[in-house]
Amino acid sequence: MALIVHKYGGTSMGSTERIRNVAKRVAKWYRAGHQMVVVPSAMSGETNRLLALAKELAPSRQTDALCRELDMLASTGEQVSVGLLAIALQAEGLEAVSYAGWQVPIRTNNAYTKARITSIDDRKVRADLSAGRVVIITGFQGLDEQGNITTLGRGGSDTSAVAVAAAMKADECLIYTDVDGVYTTDPRVVPEARRLHTVSFEEMLEMASLGSKVLQIRSVEFAGKYRVPLRVLSSFTPWDIDIEQEARSGTLITYEEDEKMEQAIVSGIAFNRDEAKISVLGVPDKPGIAYNIVGAVADANIEVDMIIQNLSKDGRTDFSFTVNRNDYARAMDLLKTKVLPALGTETLVGDTKICKVSIVGIGMRSHVGVASKMFRALSEEGINIQMISTSEIKTSVVIDEKYMELAVRALHRAFDLDQPPS
Ligand code: ADP
Ligand code: ASP
Ligand code: MG
Repeated sequence: MALIVHKYGGTSMGSTERIRNVAKRVAKWYRAGHQMVVVPSAMSGETNRLLALAKELAPSRQTDALCRELDMLASTGEQVSVGLLAIALQAEGLEAVSYAGWQVPIRTNNAYTKARITSIDDRKVRADLSAGRVVIITGFQGLDEQGNITTLGRGGSDTSAVAVAAAMKADECLIYTDVDGVYTTDPRVVPEARRLHTVSFEEMLEMASLGSKVLQIRSVEFAGKYRVPLRVLSSFTPWDIDIEQEARSGTLITYEEDEKMEQAIVSGIAFNRDEAKISVLGVPDKPGIAYNIVGAVADANIEVDMIIQNLSKDGRTDFSFTVNRNDYARAMDLLKTKVLPALGTETLVGDTKICKVSIVGIGMRSHVGVASKMFRALSEEGINIQMISTSEIKTSVVIDEKYMELAVRALHRAFDLDQPPS
């Protein structure tokens, strides 16, 4: 008997018919002798629908008080899902009990809309499992120290599932979604993308942080920290396929590097449309300028991603960086009103029509010429690179948003990602 955590995403929970299928699949695993904890997301489109309602009424400024209410609102989507799934499991003849995050409780900090899980009390869940019940826990949400409901950021049900698996030392956490694993890139953008049988934890971490939304980044961080056996697989296979076959399907996240994995220099391509670029032109080239600009932005809780500073000319230089598109207006406003006047420059240029495209692979550590191959592939398509950043296992470029799909396809071809590794 093993303790297994299943997570089902929004599309997998998208209708009562699909929920019935989820219940049948969970029942199959339970009847095979496993203890089952299930973490579903809200039904597809529901979180967007709820947040759109809020937008109709919301003041323009995002205050803490507003974010608290957004969490109260958005958390209801998952509450509907757990109730329906428990009902469907009972209809299958199983004993099933559902809990909202606050009932477990799953504790978080108080960063509304992007809270981090701090602890999980698993006593109630363990008692239910021992009594033979299937336990269903809402994804995406928790409870802060003051008793407020919090949510974990978009895609946060992945993190709930992995955190529950880590807290309970589950034998495996299976992330069921609408694709049958982790691909070399988003298969909706590149139809030739190939499913990876395994992907190293480090590569998955980079891919998630660079925009592949198949797993929320924090779920991968949790998985790495607690070495949670983690697999991404399809919820769209027939529920009654052989359980052994199902257990081996999809993509396994691995923690040990083996020789085979070293063979692929680039394992995947990630992209992100959620960034915006800001340039401050003609700032004095002297100590403290980067700190003045980036420090002020960071103090306002705005995360800065890529940064470049040009060579100086006549004692002046240009300074550019990227932020999340949601923070763009706030960052521009802050720079205009507070930072620029103090720096003695007025020229601020913003661009929201950019995207970041990245190649990721642990093989990049031991191979030279990977970045230049990337730049050549982009130049052959006439795509101009605006910014570059590299680390040990990734190279990212910022380009015009309108070339994103072209760039991803060109890089996928250039690195032979549609061919199985030799
Ligand atoms: P869920 O609702 O199950 O959480 P998501 O929409 O959050 O599903 O994540 C699954 C989606 O992630 C896929 O439908 C796919 O379009 C997208 N995706 C992006 N990059 C990748 C990738 N490298 N491999 C697989 N899917 C990817
Ligand atoms: N329902 C939440 C969202 O849409 C959480 C999730 O699906 O993981 O972001
Ligand atoms: Mg998701």
